[in-house]
Amino acid sequence: MAKVALVTGGTRGIGRSITERLVKDGYKVAANYAGNAEAAGKCAAELGVKAYQWDVGDYDACAAGIAEIGKDLGPIDILVNNAGITRDATLHRMTRQQWDDVIRVDLTSAFNLCRLTIEGMRERNFGRIINISSINGQKGQIGQVNYSAAKAGLIGFTKALAQENAKKGITVNVICPGYIDTEMVQAVPEKVLEGIIATIPVGRLGKAEEIAGCVSFLAGSDAGFITGATLTANGGQYITG
Ligand code: NDP
Repeated sequence: MAKVALVTGGTRGIGRSITERLVKDGYKVAANYAGNAEAAGKCAAELGVKAYQWDVGDYDACAAGIAEIGKDLGPIDILVNNAGITRDATLHRMTRQQWDDVIRVDLTSAFNLCRLTIEGMRERNFGRIINISSINGQKGQIGQVNYSAAKAGLIGFTKALAQENAKKGITVNVICPGYIDTEMVQAVPEKVLEGIIATIPVGRLGKAEEIAGCVSFLAGSDAGFITGATLTANGGQYITG
């Protein structure tokens, strides 16, 4: 029986590439999204998956979404916490709303979805949880105190959850992409982007498919002994120990 994967924010950008790759790998994939119905419809039609609209920051909405996926495809074996937003401002200008929005969507979402799927994974003695953090959670970034905090939080979250569930056949890992060529990065002013690329040793932005390949590896059987790991994929821009 094909395993069931949920990719949050799975209809655009990196998430869409992850959805596409997991479909190719033979999983039954549910792609979640927030509100861009056009992108979701296109993704669903082109990849042959069902798109599920809900806000990952809302616990009750997550519970309803997971229940719907359960009816359509079965219980979730592979959870990819990919949905994320930015609300950039330096701290001295940041509003409470900008802080709260990013923490809620980029960090609390992982609690919501893991909390709602982990008991089933533990009962079935299998699970793969893959969190998508960021280079900016590792190194910090001016104008992104909220985002850097949420993404660093995901790394600690991953390490703790990995230990709690290691004996239950569940692996929990986190990927830290560098700058990937998606709408999120295309929104950065051209001059700033040129400056960023100059700091990437491989001399280019990453591709969404390259992050999808990392997810595919961590979801697969070859990665069964890898848990609590931080997989850095950033073209050498920030090299960690
Ligand atoms: P995009 O903005 O291209 O896509 C974001 C996806 O997340 C969309 O499908 C969007 O849905 C969904 N989403 C946003 N908010 C919510 C929400 N509240 N509930 C459910 N779904 C939501 O992002 P990227 O592909 O660029 O980024 C994907 C992940 O990778 C993020 O976590 C990001 O922080 C991380 N990342 C990205 C990097 C990059 O260079 N792009 C670098 C490092 C990390 P909808 O289409 O409906 O809006």
